[in-house]
Amino acid sequence: MLAPYAARAEQTRGRRHPEHRHAYRDDYQRDRDRVIHSRAFRRLENKTQVFTRRLSDHFRNRLTHTIEVAQISRTIAAELDLNVDLVETLALVHDIGHPPFGHAGEHALDACMREQGLFFDHNLHALRIVEYFEQRYADFRGLNLTFEVREGIIKHSRDYSAREYPQLAEYLLDKRPPLEAQLIDLTDEIAYLTADLDDGLESEIITLADIRKGSGLFERFYVEVEKLYPQAAEKLKANEAIKRVLNALAGDLIEATKSRVRAAKIETLEDVRNAPRRLAGFSEGLEIERAELKKFLYQKLYYSPELARDKDDSKRVIAEMFAFWMQHPEKLPESYQDDAKASLPQTVCDYIAGMTDNFINEQHRALIG
Ligand code: MG
Repeated sequence: MLAPYAARAEQTRGRRHPEHRHAYRDDYQRDRDRVIHSRAFRRLENKTQVFTRRLSDHFRNRLTHTIEVAQISRTIAAELDLNVDLVETLALVHDIGHPPFGHAGEHALDACMREQGLFFDHNLHALRIVEYFEQRYADFRGLNLTFEVREGIIKHSRDYSAREYPQLAEYLLDKRPPLEAQLIDLTDEIAYLTADLDDGLESEIITLADIRKGSGLFERFYVEVEKLYPQAAEKLKANEAIKRVLNALAGDLIEATKSRVRAAKIETLEDVRNAPRRLAGFSEGLEIERAELKKFLYQKLYYSPELARDKDDSKRVIAEMFAFWMQHPEKLPESYQDDAKASLPQTVCDYIAGMTDNFINEQHRALIG
């Protein structure tokens, strides 16, 4: 049973190219399956989330992170009586526009583009992937996803103004996206904040003492776990506390979103779209603790000297490859040659953004050495 304000597949604004109905899958289920079968989705396996493979191969990569976001999103959406298939599709596609090497790669690519008077934005790139670069159908380029999925790709994490981004005008930029899309940025945070505590501890870049001091939320649960399992191994106690942090964030997101929906007297999807601000979110109290945990991870993990070496390597590889293809456009693959004539920097950027960590490193070794 869907909430009256949930997105309904039968009320989709549809696809760019009309298609026949499928015998037993609705439009959002088909979109989810299209995302899973895309090449860009498979490449997530070899893209850095936070830790490169140099450190260990059991840390999250962008694919396993994506699967965790999908899992958390499904649970929360189901409890809110939202459209689980749409939420799952948006979760599975949410990081598809990320270049190799995580955020370091993203900043490096953006810096290269800014020198050309352009910029790189991973949401815009995700849209280009599903609309243009994926080629699986004889009738059209792209995956021909429904409006709501394309809208969610663009609007799940931030607002874009129609003045600055006229090419996005069709996506109702002055309105809020459906709750299914609003959830994604928050479930993404729940997934990575907790996963990075786990991987961060495992990597020994952060210690249990660091976390207990840096996050009041974690500390509260760790004290509780210590009372319950005084004899347990420290790592297991940390895991128990992380699990409780995840549960607390998910439970709070569900309850706080429900109460905002109630307070705003939301009855239809149009009400969600017309609300003055986004309705999905944490309660005020947990929001403070979430922000504290995030700040802690930035200071102690993401900006740690231990990860700096990989980040510097990433920046150098991207900058050198960007410069290489700008000077040698003839070395771009045949399938990019037409695009390169229209805009070389954009084409080089698109080519690099699609790469896995592996592939760009191989190209770098082969072409620059
Ligand atoms: Mg993510």
